[in-house]
Amino acid sequence: MKPAAFDYIAPKTVEEVISLLTTHEDEAKILAGGQSLMPIMNFRLGRPGLLIDINGLDELDYIKQQDDHLLIGGLTRERTVERSPLVRDLCPLLSQAISFVGHTAIRNRGTVGGSLVHADPSGEIPTAFCALDGRVKAVGPDGERWIDPGEFFLTFLTTSLEPTELLVEVKVPVLPQGTGWSFMELSRRVGDFAIIGVATLLFMNGDGTCREARIALGGVAPTPFRAEEAEEVLAGQAIGEELISRAGELAGEAADAEDDYHASAEYRQEMAKIMVSRSLRQALARTGKGN
Ligand SMILES: Cc1cc2nc3c(=O)[nH]c(=O)nc-3n(C[C@H](O)[C@H](O)[C@H](O)COP(=O)(O)OP(=O)(O)OC[C@H]3O[C@@H](n4cnc5c(N)ncnc54)[C@H](O)[C@@H]3O)c2cc1C
Repeated sequence: MKPAAFDYIAPKTVEEVISLLTTHEDEAKILAGGQSLMPIMNFRLGRPGLLIDINGLDELDYIKQQDDHLLIGGLTRERTVERSPLVRDLCPLLSQAISFVGHTAIRNRGTVGGSLVHADPSGEIPTAFCALDGRVKAVGPDGERWIDPGEFFLTFLTTSLEPTELLVEVKVPVLPQGTGWSFMELSRRVGDFAIIGVATLLFMNGDGTCREARIALGGVAPTPFRAEEAEEVLAGQAIGEELISRAGELAGEAADAEDDYHASAEYRQEMAKIMVSRSLRQALARTGKGN
């Protein structure tokens, strides 16, 4: 199918984009990589009257380190982030998560900002962003604001970004040396969206106990989310098999999955338990404390 007719404009600055969004509000849509928006328009699930193409905004295409964080411009391509030596060294969880997004051609066009705003609960970048406790910077007519994952993802394909706001930057932490990390997913075929995606982080104490655990799940609720009860079971502990199983159980129980074309809710919940345990084992091994 072809999309319904729309107007098109390609501004060159963030100020111009905000002015257009303020004038047209719900009628307008930002066009970034187009990898989610164009299929939606082609299926006529969305009929924006105006596309605001931000691909000329070079100022939003960057990756840089600022103290103990990485700053990633909202228009930076998924593939650029995946291949960045800085991201691989300082935040490998993100590179790994992105490597599961679709296929190379999609990652060459798709942007980190677009993936977060699209807010697919199975999306790998949203799930990793939750585990990393990242933040996004939004700019609108009233200035800028920072939004964390708990506030950002509202429900299926819906965020708290206002129609007049542009996502301009993503901020994720540099992972300290010795942090255990893992991203795993279950999907039918390589390149498919995750049936379940799991991102885990283990921040360790010098004595080998776990200072803080982060477990984020995608595909098993209307938004990606942190399994906080499971995280609490691990904090302050020397992690072994018993605790890993317990954390997996708790994380699976926290799922709020629904039956769909790909899998039943029950299957997703059971697999979430197994995937979280596997992911924790991998993260622990990467701390140098596990098997
Ligand atoms: C065949 C195929 C397979 C795919 N597989 C996966 C997969 O396995 N996992 C996965 O996570 N994704 C997958 N995707 C989606 C892909 O990751 C998209 O690139 C991503 O979801 C959207 O990024 P985009 O830059 O293409 O955004 P667009 O499609 O251009 O935009 C998506 C939405 O975000 C809004 N938007 C974009 N940028 C901004 C911004 N800076 N500020 C405000 N609003 C903005 C747009 O208005 C639109 O509503 C797949 C896509 C295809 C076509």
